[in-house]
Amino acid sequence: MQAEIVTIGTELLLGQIIDTNAAYISQQLAAVGVNVFYRTNVGDNVERAAQVLREALDRSEIVITTGGLGPTADDVTREAVARASDRELILHEVLLKQIEAMFTRWGRPMSSSNRVQAMAPAGCIPIENPVGTAPGFIVEKNYHIMLSLPGVPREMTYLMDKTVMPYLRQRFGLRGAIKSKMLRVSGMGESVLGERIDDLMRESNPSVGTMAHTGQVDVRIAAKAESEDEADAMIAAMEVRVRERLGEFIFGTDKDTLEGVTAWKLKQSGATLALVETNTGGVIAQRLTGAPHGIGTLKSAWIITDPQWAAKSLGLDGHALASAEAAQATAEWAHRTSGATWGMGVMGTFGADEHLYGQRTGEVWIALTGPRALKPERFPYGGVSEQSRTWIANRALDLLRRNV
Ligand code: ATP
Repeated sequence: MQAEIVTIGTELLLGQIIDTNAAYISQQLAAVGVNVFYRTNVGDNVERAAQVLREALDRSEIVITTGGLGPTADDVTREAVARASDRELILHEVLLKQIEAMFTRWGRPMSSSNRVQAMAPAGCIPIENPVGTAPGFIVEKNYHIMLSLPGVPREMTYLMDKTVMPYLRQRFGLRGAIKSKMLRVSGMGESVLGERIDDLMRESNPSVGTMAHTGQVDVRIAAKAESEDEADAMIAAMEVRVRERLGEFIFGTDKDTLEGVTAWKLKQSGATLALVETNTGGVIAQRLTGAPHGIGTLKSAWIITDPQWAAKSLGLDGHALASAEAAQATAEWAHRTSGATWGMGVMGTFGADEHLYGQRTGEVWIALTGPRALKPERFPYGGVSEQSRTWIANRALDLLRRNV
């Protein structure tokens, strides 16, 4: 079974938006064993779009388009699909009723331009869109089918999940499945991690691969099988083997984030945190408060930008700001002042260049104090670049999630 994806929109060609729709659709098709051989971007031009669709329909059994279904003149998909499939564009009463009902629910008058969105090629199967105004449709030509979906990612993913995938599964009896699971790792570099699971990464089904981010590594396990259940079982067996090697360095899976897991652990143990950060612009507090449970568990946070103030107010007794002593004193100050269960001090070299003649010049010390005493840890990151802040935040969050 061969499929291709055509994403329609001049914004895509101009590089103003990234084609995340095609990536999502590719993943969904791969999951049922459908090969995607081509992905094309075409601008808002009817004839060029129709030409791309004709070629796509000639060579692929399934063509999925996204975008260009809005009510304005630059929304060309309806007309392009009609031309490519040799159909007439007609008004579909059922689509018109759905759009009218949507506006009634929103309590807004429907503009006459929205009637255009009820136009679709004759003989198509309409795809109702309960989460937006642009309905989709399915058109057939010579036993090849074309499915057109709106461009707004939230609407497109909704229709893929609720309508398109069930339709394709049933229509083509699709059973094969490719599934994957991500294990999120923190506190271990990619090269050390790679050595620990080197033999597993040489196996092919399930396959194991790594992806490094700033201060975090993902391990992706992917399995191809006859059914989703079988793929899940293969992944679960491999996950056990990966976990044996990486242990507590794995902090979560799939959509888990370091801040989410940390906040959840604080909440589980009924603990709270007070935090002092220098040189990070408050990124640790921002990430924690953005996570579910973060607001209740982060009791107070201070973002320090003035070294003199820090030295005087935190009682650092002449210690260098980026030192074990200053981090420890700051963590204790936060703990004492706030009455939180844990106090954390993240003390970095103020404004230092991250790299001087290729050498890292900055450093950061992180101390955590509370129910248990921990030795402050040093990390070689300085400066105020986004990368440096991400590293520091990931280290601090990792220290928290392991100890609270
Ligand atoms: P609607 O009428 O609901 O706006 P539409 O089908 O006309 O839907 P477009 O106008 O083409 O959709 O795109 C709407 C928005 O969706 C774009 O401005 C862009 O933000 C986003 N979008 C469109 N295509 C893609 C894509 N391939 N990947 C990611 N985002 C996209």
